[in-house]
Amino acid sequence: MHVIDAHCDTLLAMCEKKENMQYSYELVNTLGFHYMQFFAMFCPPSLLKEEDGFAKSEKLLQIMMNLYQKMTEQYSYNKVLCKKDIIDFEKKKDDQNPSFFSLLSAEGVYLSKNDISYIDYLYKNNVRCLSLTWNPSNEFGQGVNGDSKKGLSDLGIRAVSRCNELGILVDVSHANDRTFYDIASVSKKPFVATHSNSRYVCAHKRNMDDDMLRTLAKAQGVTGINYFSDFLVEKEKNKTADVFDIIKHIEYIAALIGVNYIGLGSDFDGIDKAALDDVTKVPDIINMLLKLNYKEDEVNNICSGNFIRVLKEVLHDE
Ligand SMILES: [Zn+2]
Repeated sequence: MHVIDAHCDTLLAMCEKKENMQYSYELVNTLGFHYMQFFAMFCPPSLLKEEDGFAKSEKLLQIMMNLYQKMTEQYSYNKVLCKKDIIDFEKKKDDQNPSFFSLLSAEGVYLSKNDISYIDYLYKNNVRCLSLTWNPSNEFGQGVNGDSKKGLSDLGIRAVSRCNELGILVDVSHANDRTFYDIASVSKKPFVATHSNSRYVCAHKRNMDDDMLRTLAKAQGVTGINYFSDFLVEKEKNKTADVFDIIKHIEYIAALIGVNYIGLGSDFDGIDKAALDDVTKVPDIINMLLKLNYKEDEVNNICSGNFIRVLKEVLHDE
C-alpha cells in the first residue's frame, strides 16, 4: 500500500519536545506501507510580535531545516526533491519492505525584507511545497484571518510564478477565499490544499466551499483531508470526530468533483482533537472505503495516486 500524507506539524512538535507524537518513524514503521510524509515548517506568527521577531522566526526555520536533515539521515528517509523521486516512490510497488519518503514544506513564511529571493532560499533548502500565508495576512497575501476584501499582493503574485518556475507546489490551505481565487488564476500549475475539508459538511473558514472545490478540481489540484475534529464536525455538535467523519468529507467531495481530487493531509502533531489517534490508525480509512465499495484503484488514488499526479506535474525532472 502506498500512502501520501500532505501535512503534519511533527517538526515543530519535535522542536518543542512534545510527548505522545501522532506521527513518528517508530509508529509509521509498524504499518508496512510505502509512506510519503510532507513535513511542514511552521513558525508561529506570535514570534513576530516579539523583539527581533523576524530574526527569531528565521532562526526557528533554520532549526527545523537542520532537524529535518538529521531525521532523514537517521531513519534513511528518501527525500523528495524532483520528479524522479516520485517515480522511485511509485516503483516501490514491487518491494515487499516498507519504505519512507519525506517532502519538506513551509507554512506561512515571513520576509524580513520584501524579497522574492526568499522563495529561492527555501527551494535551495529542499522546500517543495509552500503555503504563502498561515492564518494571518503577510506580505504575500491574506490568510483565513486576514482582510476578506483582499487577496494576493503584487509580491504574492510574483511568488506564485516563482514557485511555478522552481517546481514548488503551492498550497492554499490557510489562504482566505480571495487569496485562494487569486492563486487559482495566477498559477500555471496545479495547486493543492494540503490539509483542508469541505465547508458544506463542516462550516469552517479553513475548509473550502463547493465552488472552491470545483475550482481546485479544474486546476487538477488535490485537497488533503484533515483529521482535526474542528474541521470535520462543527463545534456546536459537541463531539470529537472519528473515522466516519473523515469518510463523510471524502464521500461529499467525491460526489461533488470525483475521487481524483482527494488526498490525505492529517495535520498530525498540530492538532489536539483528532479523528484518528495517530498514524497507525490510517488503515481504518482504507478499510472503511473498501467496505463502502470504493474500487481498489479509487482508494489508491485517494491514498496516494492523486498527489503523485500533481507532484509529477509540478516538480522538476531532476
Ligand atoms: Zn496548517
